[in-house]
Amino acid sequence: QAPDSLPRIQRLDETVVNRIAAGEVIQRPFNAVKELLENSIDAGSTLVQIIARDGGNKLLQIIDNGCGIRFDDMPIVCERFTTSKLAAFTDLRSLNTHGFRGEALASISHVAHVSIVSKTAEAECAYRGEYFEGKLKAPVKYVPGNQGTTITAEDLFFNVPIRRRTLKSATEEFKKIVEVVSLYSLHYPRVGMSVRKAGSDGLTALKTPADSTVAANIRLMVGAEAADALIHVNHEDKRLEFSLDAFVTGPSFAGRKTQLVLFINHRLVESARLRRAMESAFTEALPRGAQPFAYVSLQIAPHNVDVNVHPTKHEVFFLHQDAIADAIQSRIVAALAAGRQSMTFLVQS
Ligand code: ADP
Ligand code: MG
Repeated sequence: QAPDSLPRIQRLDETVVNRIAAGEVIQRPFNAVKELLENSIDAGSTLVQIIARDGGNKLLQIIDNGCGIRFDDMPIVCERFTTSKLAAFTDLRSLNTHGFRGEALASISHVAHVSIVSKTAEAECAYRGEYFEGKLKAPVKYVPGNQGTTITAEDLFFNVPIRRRTLKSATEEFKKIVEVVSLYSLHYPRVGMSVRKAGSDGLTALKTPADSTVAANIRLMVGAEAADALIHVNHEDKRLEFSLDAFVTGPSFAGRKTQLVLFINHRLVESARLRRAMESAFTEALPRGAQPFAYVSLQIAPHNVDVNVHPTKHEVFFLHQDAIADAIQSRIVAALAAGRQSMTFLVQS
């Protein structure tokens, strides 16, 4: 016999569920920027502008020139698990978009006031919807606007006081936003990206041209010295079903700290195992104390990767991890050693 004091099990209110989920997906303003930027890239944009006020806490705006959102989809676009990118679970294996869970916009709309202005190529006029907690606050209105989508999120975490208190300073948050955008600009050099602060003092912290290249964007981001020392490494492994495309600074470059930018299947991720492999390669092939910059893009056969292991999609699991890491390590060592030889050769001649 249960005592009366034993609490009954109750179903959580949907709003509570959604706010909890939102807290996992959007931990800081830069997480929102990453999700929105990925959406703009998924939409085929060639130009993406990002504006932030107070490190994104007060205002985050992202303007793209992508395919736009259909007028008829505007009412459900911010609902949880609404997506145009995934129809069946098996599609997860052939996914070529960043998004798939339909959680980003929903999450943001649960912790901020969101407005979306969009126009598809077919539409005669743009339209605007305002959202809160996944839903439209009023019917969608026609407004002037160009093709593409502008998403504005205001007062991030206004309803999550604890999260607001744990955030870093606006300067710090803005730095993270600039960083995440510059890393994506390395992987998508064809897409022009910019980040600036809102207002009249609207300092532009980053601006890459459309149709740029990886090397040109490394030059912008890390500097000319790094760009001049870059060694381009390509590798394909049929047995382990992966391919590698990397730019690593050779022995002539010594940065202030080692920087490794890793994309796996077009997602910016962390992998302790690959980081270790890269660091071993650096130790083996570079002069002592060299602090290289490396951008590594790894493509692994989708059936060997699980992208759905983390709410922020920050980590991925993949098969043959050790074998792939070892193969990459020896390939990088070989490329760096060859780079060193050609430098010695230059010095001698
Ligand atoms: P997901 O990206 O996982 O599908 P999101 O919540 O990020 O989920 O977005 C939901 C849907 O809204 C997307 O599937 C897409 O159809 C649409 N969408 C979001 N942002 C854009 C954008 N910038 N341009 C065009 N469509 C967009
Ligand atoms: Mg998305």
